[in-house]
Amino acid sequence: MGFSSLGLQAGLVKSLAEQGYREPTQVQQAAIPVILKGQDIMAGAQTGTGKTAAFALPILQLLSQEKNTKSDNTQSGTPSPRALVLTPTRELAQQVHASFEKYGVHLPFFSRLAYGGVSINAQVEGFNAGVDILVATPGRLLDHLAKGSLTLAQLQFLVFDEADRMLDMGFIDDIKRILKLLPEQRQTMLFSATFDAATVGLSKKLLNQPEMIQV
Ligand code: AMP
Repeated sequence: MGFSSLGLQAGLVKSLAEQGYREPTQVQQAAIPVILKGQDIMAGAQTGTGKTAAFALPILQLLSQEKNTKSDNTQSGTPSPRALVLTPTRELAQQVHASFEKYGVHLPFFSRLAYGGVSINAQVEGFNAGVDILVATPGRLLDHLAKGSLTLAQLQFLVFDEADRMLDMGFIDDIKRILKLLPEQRQTMLFSATFDAATVGLSKKLLNQPEMIQV
């Protein structure tokens, strides 16, 4: 089964061919059509299964299908990404951001990073130059929201990557604070290696009639 039969557009399929990807992995086969339909999803997948592309590819496509193909941050006040990926660590954030850049190389979107331990101002400058996709750790995201360098008012796509690890690392209060600042109307995707009681509890708060997939 090829990537185009999952419903992905030519520009994305081209960048995948350039990466040497020949076939979608199992989690990509299961998740991509569901996300493209606009449905919430809860996906059980370990690192190394291709889970990043399983959410990054359909999000890039959905962003490019909208009339307003690019966020106009410079003219309309506070920058507001349309897609947000929350990760437990800066290393994972960097990997996810690199994936959006790689897969979206033929698309006109800006992916930006927000994680702690580095200068906040350089991140703000990036947002002001345009932010369509934001990949963030919870604490630094809250710092930006408190400072007013970002809003989540335009958010349409929300991903929790490695949700179980985020909860293990004690991010639940940060997550609850972030959730209060999100639009109700949005598509939410939760990826997790395991589904313990805490992760299932979070999924019930976050997801609206999700499709469950497990690979
Ligand atoms: P992830 O599970 O998202 O961390 O991805 C693990 C690795 O698999 C990354 O190096 C990806 O670039 C690679 N990868 C993802 N999807 C595919 C695919 N369909 N074909 C070949 N490699 C892939």
